[in-house]
Amino acid sequence: MSAPRKCGACTLCCRLTAIPELNKQYGVWCRHCSIGEGCKAYEQRPPSCYSYECLWLKGGLPDNLRPDRCKVVFEELKGHFIYLVLVNFGMPDAWKNRDIRREISQLAKDGFAVVVSVEGGKHKYMLIPEGQTKKEVEARLRAAQKEISETNRCQPQPTQQI
Ligand code: SF4
Ligand code: SF4
Repeated sequence: MSAPRKCGACTLCCRLTAIPELNKQYGVWCRHCSIGEGCKAYEQRPPSCYSYECLWLKGGLPDNLRPDRCKVVFEELKGHFIYLVLVNFGMPDAWKNRDIRREISQLAKDGFAVVVSVEGGKHKYMLIPEGQTKKEVEARLRAAQKEISETNRCQPQPTQQI
């Protein structure tokens, strides 16, 4: 069995998430982040941070799709069958990379809706798995957002289909 992954030099979620405990907004680098190095307040980081695991960290994506390398973060909205694909600012086409598109397609084949959020949600795209409707996915997303607003860190709103 391979060793669990570590974030290493990746710090992308320290920008692409909101952290209620720190009053940090989505898209702003956390004041504790040493970009490309790690957290300067690692021992004191809040629950939103130490409980956070992107799909890459959980081993669900190939090595080359570590978020700081591919410029996107895949995040599961647990219990709602949705994945968010959060694209770094200033790189609106990063998610169109062939390897990323392949992962997005695979998630949809596995029954997950995928919401791609570009430029902090200015552009949003939704891939709906076969047999599901946009209405159903949006209802699940609203339910997820309700939970997120209290416990988690990202707030996308889909408007278009991929
Ligand atoms: S985006 Fe994933 S790999 Fe990168 S710092 Fe956050 S949890 Fe770690
Ligand atoms: S407290 Fe640390 S882990 Fe949490 S967002 Fe800030 S830099 Fe990242």
